[in-house]
Amino acid sequence: MVNHLADQGLAQSMVALEEIPEDLPEFIDDVEEYLPSHLPESDLVLAVGLSGDINLLVPLIAKKTGAKSVIIPIHDPAQLPPGLLREVEESAPEIRMVFPRPFCTLLPVGDEFIDEFVQKFGKPEVEVQGDSYIKKITVKRGAPCGCTDYIAQELEGFPLEEAELEAGNKFHNYPCLASMKDDHISGDTLMHIAGYQAKEAIKRSLGYASKSAMVDPDDCEGDECEHACLEHCPQVRSGIATIILDDDGKAVIDPASCGLCEICIQECPYGAIEIMEGPLKW
Ligand code: SF4
Ligand code: SF4
Repeated sequence: MVNHLADQGLAQSMVALEEIPEDLPEFIDDVEEYLPSHLPESDLVLAVGLSGDINLLVPLIAKKTGAKSVIIPIHDPAQLPPGLLREVEESAPEIRMVFPRPFCTLLPVGDEFIDEFVQKFGKPEVEVQGDSYIKKITVKRGAPCGCTDYIAQELEGFPLEEAELEAGNKFHNYPCLASMKDDHISGDTLMHIAGYQAKEAIKRSLGYASKSAMVDPDDCEGDECEHACLEHCPQVRSGIATIILDDDGKAVIDPASCGLCEICIQECPYGAIEIMEGPLKW
């Protein structure tokens, strides 16, 4: 990830790079003993792949460097349990911290330094060019691990109508850093969530999805319903507006970001949702 960020133009902005040992005890009494000796002034701290108590080191590093913004991406459900996450946040309330799960769901948050980073890295955004075949895919914002750039290169030459399906296949060929363990916060695996972002970028640029869960407004009970679809959709739980409610409280699904997990179909008590084939627009 560091190499990818450096190759994509961040090399000049990186003032320090520290590798924390991996063989750490599960509970650390004094994280300060792991403070790096060289801590130059910085604006933003990225803390990638730290698991457990060692995450408490991140706000300390930010304070020492004068950074006001921190990104701690979550790739594994066990990496930063909710109690520890709160502890990390509360140890430096003056510092803006974000915890994208996984990194490729990160969108602007209204913070100067995080948003500058998100101009190029975070939730993927691409532009697909070509008529019947893909001529070129320009990455406007790429997953920080390099996955979007890989998919963009690999898809060149494929028929446009296969772009969405092939984006999913190419995503699986890339060594995604996210875990396949069940994540109770999103209700899915973080690797699946990452895959949804990769495919959404292609669908958004094409302007249609070939398949999506869709709500039949005649069957949706709207405000009479407790909106289980909204509550359980892993995309919604990851901060993506995949299901919204209309003025009558009826659910509407965004085909671009629907990951086809079918969880909403199982959860809807009125059987109002089914998988539809497209092209589906939004
Ligand atoms: S299938 Fe339903 S629950 Fe799954 S991503 Fe699509 S809208 Fe969300
Ligand atoms: S759970 Fe079903 S009935 Fe309830 S809001 Fe969602 S789609 Fe509509």
